Amino acid sequence: MPGYSGRRASMITMKHYPFLDLKTVNEPYRDAMVEAMTRVVDSGWYVGGPEVEAFESALAAYCDVPYVVGLTNGLDALRLALRGYIELGRLGKGDKVMVPANTYVATVLAITDNGLVPVFVDAHDMTLNMDTSRLDEYLQEGVKAIMPVHLYGRVCWDEALRDFVQRHSLLVIEDNAQAIGAVATCDGLFGTRHSGGLGHAGCFSFYPTKNVGALGDAGALATHDAELAQAVRAIRNYGSLRQYDNIYKGLNCRLDPMKAAQLTVKLPFADMENGARAKLAGIYDCYITNPLVRKPLYAEGAADSVWHQYVVRVDDRDAFRAYLLENGVETAVHYATPPYRQTCYAEYAGIDMPVSDEIARTCVSLPISRCTSLDDAMDIAEIVNGYHR
Ligand SMILES: *Cc1c(COP(=O)(O)O)cnc(C)c1O
Repeated sequence: MPGYSGRRASMITMKHYPFLDLKTVNEPYRDAMVEAMTRVVDSGWYVGGPEVEAFESALAAYCDVPYVVGLTNGLDALRLALRGYIELGRLGKGDKVMVPANTYVATVLAITDNGLVPVFVDAHDMTLNMDTSRLDEYLQEGVKAIMPVHLYGRVCWDEALRDFVQRHSLLVIEDNAQAIGAVATCDGLFGTRHSGGLGHAGCFSFYPTKNVGALGDAGALATHDAELAQAVRAIRNYGSLRQYDNIYKGLNCRLDPMKAAQLTVKLPFADMENGARAKLAGIYDCYITNPLVRKPLYAEGAADSVWHQYVVRVDDRDAFRAYLLENGVETAVHYATPPYRQTCYAEYAGIDMPVSDEIARTCVSLPISRCTSLDDAMDIAEIVNGYHR
């Protein structure tokens, strides 16, 4: 057809590969969630109550822990875990908490919000998690706790980490926001291998983009520690377990029944959702062969991790992302600025975290959700392979 170049025609029909679309993600659950929410509306019970308790029990069973406390969001789960241990006298203001340098800022915010001091541990170049082989190097006087983050869904738990925390009697608070459903390859402190149940407390986020997401903010704390569960139940409720009897200067951080009802619908499908993501990751692993693109590598024993993000590393990230977008592929970056380089943490700007800096400079997340079909993943792999400098 005169006047139309092939290029233009192909641009008009070019396929679009969205990074994530939450409406699509929730489509299969829509009717069941509407039904569950109608049940809440009709129950007249809008704070606490049976919907929250039912979800807490379901999550406890799913991750093999005795206690779950439903909370407003993942950050609150992290900060209430620490706050609970402060109230119980197991942590005190000014104590130090080891935390990966390569994490979402929320893990660190939970520490500083409680008047505790983060001790950053650089990432391992392969796992992208806290380098468990170098923990003794980072240990300082005053470290009382450690917060392993299972970043991108990859479990940060191995014999080196377990030995380290046992040798130094540290409290272990897992940030499991990205790894619901993952299983470690060695036992946690209390026998179970389920992420979120490996240490003393595990923190979950059900932010809409997480592998199990609510229609809004939601979170939970899972724990093997009955005293911590009790303390956090009180702190989330103004510091009170009985009305008008305030044992702590508490907060209001309760999980809504509306969110609990949505999550009760979705939780039984967590393994299925994780399985679908694993298939996409398998396609990327298999078909991406571009030497300019470093794929995620498996640490020995990472086989039971889940995929929250599929993070590749590319030297010229901006050019790579622009090329992908020109070809219809949306990507994201998790995260371009590590916590210790954020404006709010200027006091840590001088610390030396070469591996985490390098990850922050080069990481790119490819689409890995229900919005991406297996065919899409094959196309995306092919487009990735077409990238050159
Ligand atoms: C999402 C996330 C959080 C915070 O959870 P919210 O529910 O968004 O508050 C904390 N840590 C990590 C690693 C996360 O990915």
